Amino acid sequence: MNEHAPYIDIHTHGPAMQGVRSVRHVSLSEIDSFNTTDGQLLSVGLHPWNLRGNEDLKLVREHLTFALGYPYVAALGETGLDKAIDMPLGHQEVVFRIHAELSESSGKPLVIHCVRAFQEILGIRKQMKASRPWIFHGFSGSAQLARQCLDAGCLLSFGSAILKESNRALHSLLHIGMDDFFLETDDVRVRIEEIYERAARVKQTEPEVLRARMFERFTNLFGV
Ligand SMILES: [Zn+2]
Repeated sequence: MNEHAPYIDIHTHGPAMQGVRSVRHVSLSEIDSFNTTDGQLLSVGLHPWNLRGNEDLKLVREHLTFALGYPYVAALGETGLDKAIDMPLGHQEVVFRIHAELSESSGKPLVIHCVRAFQEILGIRKQMKASRPWIFHGFSGSAQLARQCLDAGCLLSFGSAILKESNRALHSLLHIGMDDFFLETDDVRVRIEEIYERAARVKQTEPEVLRARMFERFTNLFGV
């Protein structure tokens, strides 16, 4: 077991932290001016919340392709489908598909923001015959949905939701395998160590064991 393995924070909007290897979301509009990564890896994407509805899709594809050339850009996203916002789902979907296609062609994982649109996203994955890992971040669905996502070849990431007492995210975490998930802080002011402690307790293991295993999987997944 690698006792010196850093914590992995698979999805954050914050800066690099000591002892933590993180993947920070940077929006496509900010990526070119983003130059202080402090060893952080970045994911680049168009969040559905930031869509205006009139995006030039050709330009989005070109810009994302260009951004993937930065050595510290390790993933695409977050991007996805959100049924709780006003933006037409059709437009969200074409933008999402651009990310998904680039994930396939570049081999880089895709970080997904999904609100009430799991069946749509899993349908797209099946239709595209996508083989790259898609990571549903901030997962708080049922254990049954978790299983469905995993069976489709996707991964799940749990965040601060598991710190609350009894809830669906916690229940799902309990019912999946040790190697089926990642952990994240997202945009919440919480320490990743705290989330590891909670997850380790749920999985009846030590945080160090979780840390070593997650680091190994992260290294394989991101090739870093
Ligand atoms: Zn986020």
